[in-house]
Amino acid sequence: MLYIGCHLSSSKGFLAMGKEAVKLGANTFQFFTRNPRGGAAKPIDEEDIKAYLEFAKENGIGTIVAHAPYVLNACAATEDIRNFAKETMADDLKRMEYLPGNLYNFHPGSHVKQGVDIGIEYIAEMLNEVLNKDMSTTVLLETMAGKGSEIGRSFEEIRAILDKVELKDKMGVCLDTCHVFDGGYDIVNDLDGVVKEFDDIIGLDKLKAIHINDSKNTLGSHKDRHEKIAEGNIGAEAIINVINHPAFRGLPMNLETPNELEGYAKEIAFLKSKYTLD
Ligand code: FE
Ligand code: FE
Ligand code: ZN
Repeated sequence: MLYIGCHLSSSKGFLAMGKEAVKLGANTFQFFTRNPRGGAAKPIDEEDIKAYLEFAKENGIGTIVAHAPYVLNACAATEDIRNFAKETMADDLKRMEYLPGNLYNFHPGSHVKQGVDIGIEYIAEMLNEVLNKDMSTTVLLETMAGKGSEIGRSFEEIRAILDKVELKDKMGVCLDTCHVFDGGYDIVNDLDGVVKEFDDIIGLDKLKAIHINDSKNTLGSHKDRHEKIAEGNIGAEAIINVINHPAFRGLPMNLETPNELEGYAKEIAFLKSKYTLD
């Protein structure tokens, strides 16, 4: 079963997102837990969530993906910013329990000249403080393009973080096609090789979600500029191979392409028409 969707605005609540997703032909979606540039989250609306859960069940919406705000940087150079990251994630994870069993994805962070090792140390420290054994959410480290001092630019860096986390069963990975391509993983000419490398270094059992994006830049450019499907350097064929790769079967796949809703609907319809796995 293909679980395909896109990033949606959470400003109108969960039921509105669910309805929007179905209208677009999607059966999963992603949303920001709060303003991507930071700030307080809206209060939880239990009625809205109840209505959403009912709607999701009736309409076959699968696992959904919450995305932490971009400003969250667990390995910032100043303690204030690191503490803000911790508090934000802890609060987000508490709120996620209203939607049990879903995914919470975040960018590992930028080490801003402190070096990768110290960065990894801080990220693991945050996770060890905010994860708890009773939570039903799986927290995902997103694979990054390696722009600036971003951590998570290689499978080895992701693995190094996972190794330092105590509650390992609460952790997973979200693979972003634009990011790994910009990071130097050739998913165009050697998808099987990249999948094998992921399995050897991280383990495919850790892979819980995919971001489907084309890239404005070239292999290994470390840029992170998403492009519409088939209009970038990854291209339609490679993206179609990704959605049909047996290793990714059943994972929620969300578009984060530069589109309005109409464009997302077209891309979702296109990818559904190219899905051949089952
Ligand atoms: Fe992201
Ligand atoms: Fe992404
Ligand atoms: Zn990106």
